[in-house]
Amino acid sequence: MTHPSAAPGASYGDFYRRSIDDSEAFWAEQAGFIDWATPPQQILDASHPPFARWFVGGTTNLCHNAVDRHLASRGDQPALICVSTETGSERSYSFRELHAEVQRTAACLLALGVKRSDRVLIYMPMIAEAAFAMLACARIGAVHCVVFGGFASGSLASRIEDAEPTVVFSADAGSRAGKVIAYKPLLDEAIRLSRHKPAAVLLADRGLAPMDLVAGRDHLLRDLAAQHAEAVVPCTWLESTEISYTIYTSGTTGKPKGVQRDTGGYAVALAASMKHIFDGRAGETYFSTSDIGWVVGHSYIVYGPLIAGMATIMYEGLPTQGLDGQPDGGIWWQLVEKYQVTVMFSAPTAVRVLKKQDPALLKKYDLSSLRALFLAGEPLDEPTARWISDGLGVPIIDNYWQTESGWPIITIANGVEKKPSKFGSPGVPMYGWRVKIVHESTGEELTTPGEKGVVVVEGPTPPGFMQTIWRDDARFVNTYWKSIPDRTVYSTFDWGIRDADGYFYILGRTDDVINVAGHRLGTREIEESISGHDNVAEVAVVGVADQLKGQVAMAFVVPRAGNAVTDGDAALKLEGEIMKRVADQLGALARPARVRFVTALPKTRSGKLLRRAIQAVCEQRDPGDLTTIDDPACLQQIQRLVGA
Ligand code: ATP
Ligand code: MG
Repeated sequence: MTHPSAAPGASYGDFYRRSIDDSEAFWAEQAGFIDWATPPQQILDASHPPFARWFVGGTTNLCHNAVDRHLASRGDQPALICVSTETGSERSYSFRELHAEVQRTAACLLALGVKRSDRVLIYMPMIAEAAFAMLACARIGAVHCVVFGGFASGSLASRIEDAEPTVVFSADAGSRAGKVIAYKPLLDEAIRLSRHKPAAVLLADRGLAPMDLVAGRDHLLRDLAAQHAEAVVPCTWLESTEISYTIYTSGTTGKPKGVQRDTGGYAVALAASMKHIFDGRAGETYFSTSDIGWVVGHSYIVYGPLIAGMATIMYEGLPTQGLDGQPDGGIWWQLVEKYQVTVMFSAPTAVRVLKKQDPALLKKYDLSSLRALFLAGEPLDEPTARWISDGLGVPIIDNYWQTESGWPIITIANGVEKKPSKFGSPGVPMYGWRVKIVHESTGEELTTPGEKGVVVVEGPTPPGFMQTIWRDDARFVNTYWKSIPDRTVYSTFDWGIRDADGYFYILGRTDDVINVAGHRLGTREIEESISGHDNVAEVAVVGVADQLKGQVAMAFVVPRAGNAVTDGDAALKLEGEIMKRVADQLGALARPARVRFVTALPKTRSGKLLRRAIQAVCEQRDPGDLTTIDDPACLQQIQRLVGA
């Protein structure tokens, strides 16, 4: 297989067109970025749409591509760098050390009876053992199901029932803002609640919280690993379409969906994206501030950077706390300088946290190694993008994708052509993605610049995209592929428009639209206008039922630190300014009926605004599935404000 490289000076437009018009040849080339034990016999099997099977007949292994493959060329270079500002620890593992650790962990899983295609549920804090566990599963062909650490027992129990794991891999505790969260009691309770009982529980002991071990079921990793210190566990070659993992969506719009991913397609998609999108190079360092509980953690903390031969930083802690446990809003930039990070990945929600800090912190360290900061997960409003861009002096690249997609759908392919970013837009469709904007009820494609519709993807979907919903093909087809009348397309459930240059703008989720007296307004547009006010740190806008107008906009605003709106007059004044600003910029219809001030907004554990829950509370309805909510007190504050 040939090893492709984009021709110097190639235009992204040509690159994209080839990925669509000559798709199989394009992806056959990309397949050359990874090692195969057996080369694929068929590049794409699209005989059962909307299912797409990539690189059929090929056998490979994610762990081999992430670890073993680099031993000869960079065995002693750093692979995994774990930094915890919670415990004040910092530790680096070379590829060779990682290789040994992963084999030890794999041997433990095998000793506990884990076989190929068995599930291993990983409920872990952001420590090295979590990455060892994921890679160990991949190595032996077990399917990992990482559940965000610290989820309550109810959420964990439902995932244990859904995944039916042979083994649960966990730890004594996590830590957040200096507060220890004991995981073991949560896990014990979850197993008690679940109808499925794992055969064994494997526990990493960080010495943060005491653990009661259940005899015959619970094993300490330390003890078991000691019996396998020199373990040699070869990689199991998997068929490209065998399952690598399942992962749940964030639950922003309702009950989380279990996304199932393949092996070969995913490996190729990640390898290609590291080169074409992130422009990350072997021997460099990648820093993603996400958590392994989310898709970003799978794709761009663990697998993507390692497959590319890069060192990856795994970070436990807040963005505002130093290694000495003292407040330090510059910690991330300190790490960028120290580890010479070239590519960084974070989320708008984290930048909004930093925005409350002194901007001088962004200038304190030498960031000359950094080529770009990618941000994903939520709309990146222009004021936030400008603030971080001016502060860092580094290109900021908005990145639009989903748990389902596995890798970016719309962004800038920095490794192919450094097209300029436009504030407010994630960029253009990535190679392999047939992105369209269609009318929500006719399904008709909207091609006029500025026309607003649903962002959809036409099949066949590229490598790395979800295979199906775990054990529920019918739900996969019905949820995602049948929501647009008369068109079998994948719906992202996001609104968007495209401008004359082909740049897309995401306007929010399809269920986040406000209908004021027959006019449809995106919550995002109103939020963007409000967040431009100097005294606003964060804002959520929801549509609330109104007898007269159908719906009206309600805004919940977190004021900037030091500008706390405490007394009635100041609040009224700021509310008036915000209302006027929206009316001036978007028209009187968009003006919020009320602006309420809160100390924090309700979010999922991954930092996404729970607008549906705010809306339900405002309309005195049941807020629905709240298993992924971060701090229920935020919702209660809103409940008190609106008198529900
Ligand atoms: P659920 O599907 O369970 O409701 P979720 O959609 O929040 O949760 P994710 O897969 O983590 O779960 O998030 C994907 C969604 O996040 C996208 O569909 C989009 O709404 C939003 N999103 C992600 N990146 C961006 C971005 N760069 N700009 C705008 N929106 C984004
Ligand atoms: Mg979603």
